[in-house]
Amino acid sequence: MHSLEHLEAADAIIRAGVRLGARGLIVAAEGNLSIRIGDQLLVTPSGRRKDELSVADLLLVPINPGDAPDADDPDAPRPSSDIAVHRAIYRARPDVQAVAHAHLAASLGLTLAGERPDPEDLPETRLLLPRLPFVPLLPMGSPEIAAAVAAALVEPPEPLATAVLQERHGAVTVGATIEAAVNRLELVDLLCRVRRDALLIEASRRAR
Ligand SMILES: [Zn+2]
Repeated sequence: MHSLEHLEAADAIIRAGVRLGARGLIVAAEGNLSIRIGDQLLVTPSGRRKDELSVADLLLVPINPGDAPDADDPDAPRPSSDIAVHRAIYRARPDVQAVAHAHLAASLGLTLAGERPDPEDLPETRLLLPRLPFVPLLPMGSPEIAAAVAAALVEPPEPLATAVLQERHGAVTVGATIEAAVNRLELVDLLCRVRRDALLIEASRRAR
């Protein structure tokens, strides 16, 4: 029997997954979403489309895995492979209630080409996404990437960052709600697409 808080969080995650899918920000089984519930987090499962989830698909796991080890039944649904990143963020940032992650295509292309989009480039991202720290490529799901993302989110000065760009691995965003975290993913995507377009226009101008 799920608590009302669990059901409301599940509903918000399901709607956020549909929204990311509708906007083309996730493909196949990519991306993951979570919401803090006390000392646990409700998180999307590994290996499943995030725009076709139901309440029963979501997993409630402890933020500190030492409290209760993850189930080792190989047939049981498993939490997202990026679970270590989510746990590290909730431990590092008590203000964060939700985490979202997607492999934003334009960010993959830009970081593959060695480019780093700057939120200062656009008035809207300058206002709503004032900082966008960068984490270099590290093995997916590793303790190293979890530590690097969490460290980027607590790096002074205030206000602390609410989004992290990962080399060739999209972005991780946080918020007081999952809607706020997804809005930030959309802003990172917008910034990356605009930067890519500007680079292409400049390149074609030079080639003329
Ligand atoms: Zn990922």
